[in-house]
Amino acid sequence: MRTIKNIFVHCTATPQHTTIEQLQAAFRRRGWSAPGYHYVICPTGRIVKLLDDIFIANGVAGHNEHAVHVAYIGGIDSQGRAVDNRTCAQRSALQTQLRVLLTRYPGAHILGHRYISPDRNRNGRVDAWERIKACNCFDAATEYAGLRPVRQE
Ligand SMILES: [Zn+2]
Repeated sequence: MRTIKNIFVHCTATPQHTTIEQLQAAFRRRGWSAPGYHYVICPTGRIVKLLDDIFIANGVAGHNEHAVHVAYIGGIDSQGRAVDNRTCAQRSALQTQLRVLLTRYPGAHILGHRYISPDRNRNGRVDAWERIKACNCFDAATEYAGLRPVRQE
């Protein structure tokens, strides 16, 4: 098994009614042999596994070797602007899946895709203006800071 250091949270940056088949087709159009995410969280709360953790997904260029990627379907409004439009069921299922992954990979960090941006002013953090992507459209590191593995409760 690979060493998993990071669990990346993404939005698909697509309308909420986007299907799994449409996501898979979009990955193929990019010429990717692997999908962009290991797990996709549907607005209904359904968790769909696209790829086993033992394989490398195409989530964040240059940061995939030691990462597992989880995406919720959505993240843009009708004008295509970034928005956190997770449904209640999606928030709950996303949290559940992240806890499962934390249990599987103790010590792994939960990060939003947008934190992988250059720290241009070198102040030790990626400020809002430095983000090259809006993905995942909420502050994952803060929201999940208190998240614990399943088995420790
Ligand atoms: Zn992303």
